[in-house]
Amino acid sequence: MRSFFLSLSIVSMYLLNAPVSRDLDHTTNVVAVYICVSKTASKYHYSQSCTGLNRCSHKIEKVSISDAKNRGYSLCGFED
Ligand SMILES: [Zn+2]
Repeated sequence: MRSFFLSLSIVSMYLLNAPVSRDLDHTTNVVAVYICVSKTASKYHYSQSCTGLNRCSHKIEKVSISDAKNRGYSLCGFED
């Protein structure tokens, strides 16, 4: 059972890291990204497992990319 969940998380990590969303930026605003909700955070992340996002010691929120941009977030330096 444990190996099942392990492989499931590996698959979902792969999907999160797949370079699919970037090219769709101009055609859709419904791409979900992750932001760290804190006064100092200014980056949004495509990958929930991103190094930059893991530095977040506050609340992590999943929002649409347009929402992240409206709130003043820009693309994470690890993912550009
Ligand atoms: Zn990132």
